Amino acid sequence: TPQPNPNPQVGAAVKAADRAHVFHSWSAQELIDPLAVAGAEGSYFWDYDGNRYLDFTSGLVFTNIGYQHPKVVAAIQEQAATMTTFAPAFAVEARSEAARLIAERTPGDLDKIFFTNGGAEAVENATRMARLHTGRPKVLSAYRSYHGATSAAINLTGDPRRWPSDNGTAGVVHFWAPFLYRSPFYAENEQQECERALQHLEDTIAFEGPQTIAAIILESVPGTAGIMTPPPGYLSGVREICDRHGIVFILDEVMAGFGRTGKWFAADHFDGGIVPDLLTFAKGVNSGYVPLGGVAISSAIAETFARRPYPGGLTYSGHPLACAAAVATINVMEDEGIVENAARVGTEIIAPALAELAERHPSVGEVRGLGMFWALELVKDKETREPLVPYNATGEANAPMAAFGAAAKKQGLWPFINMNRTHVVPPCNITDTEAKEGLAALDAALSVADEHVS
Ligand code: PLP
Repeated sequence: TPQPNPNPQVGAAVKAADRAHVFHSWSAQELIDPLAVAGAEGSYFWDYDGNRYLDFTSGLVFTNIGYQHPKVVAAIQEQAATMTTFAPAFAVEARSEAARLIAERTPGDLDKIFFTNGGAEAVENATRMARLHTGRPKVLSAYRSYHGATSAAINLTGDPRRWPSDNGTAGVVHFWAPFLYRSPFYAENEQQECERALQHLEDTIAFEGPQTIAAIILESVPGTAGIMTPPPGYLSGVREICDRHGIVFILDEVMAGFGRTGKWFAADHFDGGIVPDLLTFAKGVNSGYVPLGGVAISSAIAETFARRPYPGGLTYSGHPLACAAAVATINVMEDEGIVENAARVGTEIIAPALAELAERHPSVGEVRGLGMFWALELVKDKETREPLVPYNATGEANAPMAAFGAAAKKQGLWPFINMNRTHVVPPCNITDTEAKEGLAALDAALSVADEHVS
């Protein structure tokens, strides 16, 4: 077990320098209080005051093999010692090997890998490829989605963080994807939700003009927006619609990919396995140890750029350190059965425990997910499903969720919180004991959320 080694003085200095000079993402700079982190190992991290936390967030849902896995750390050290960096136009062992290992695991004929430094750049390039491949301008994406924060990716994103920076010029049209608990289609069951969502997508395409639509982008299982597993038939229905209209189907697996759902890719779960034309990945590909993302490309789209240059690239595309980390991560996931562990712990421990919490706690409106990818919808009232805090609440209005978060931390659990939801997204190699420890802490924290139920 990793042991915290308290050193409050160092912690205070780290914090002071952070507050003086680090400009944090998504934050009002003077209203935040970031924890100074001293170290991390496996499923835990700790601060300088001797507090240790079980990380039910996997960072930002990326440490799929936990922190500081010795084999991956060693692979990064070895790569640094032999070839720390090299420009993208060369064939480099770590890059070739990472591409091979990724292509072997992505669905169908997605056999060519374009490397980026993260998820948003993968989305940028996937949509660019789709536009060039089809010669069409528009991309359709779902409300209640997250695709990244660069210019095109934030315009595709269907959540309130888009609003301040959406310039409306990116050729993006939003549509509603299925979400039975808060059904945009007033459906009463999954089958109805699926049928109505597909009809709505057909209608959107008809009114936009199919000949104007390059791509439809969807998260296989939308993550940040609430882990909404699609109903049976939905993704295969979208695949069929795309085929019929010559539209490129992009599945964004930045969060759901690389073991998170208990299979290598979330697309593998649904309707006998979905094969998109482009698949974006990042995060879990190397557990976030070194920034890496990419696009897996079908043979048909690769063919478009066989004799015509692809107009896009990044200085650090396929950076050797990041690729060496990916090779080591994928090998560790195979050797240690980490994808299988995510499926087993998800099915045997987390699913039944969360179902039981939902029954016992008045604040838990719904539990949904799979593998190591779960969301609890916290509500004021189970009947009306009114969220425990209003959409996009800050300050006093967000107090019930803040109280829930503080209670979890007091129990030694670091929770993932988004609006009125908490997500259970621990490392995919979490042990049974750790999972049970986290669930017990969650139980206690939910009792605090219960106090805010009306
Ligand atoms: N796509 C999805 C589905 C994501 O969850 C994220 C990040 O959370 C992104 C894209 C953006 O990735 P990045 O933050 O690495 O740019």
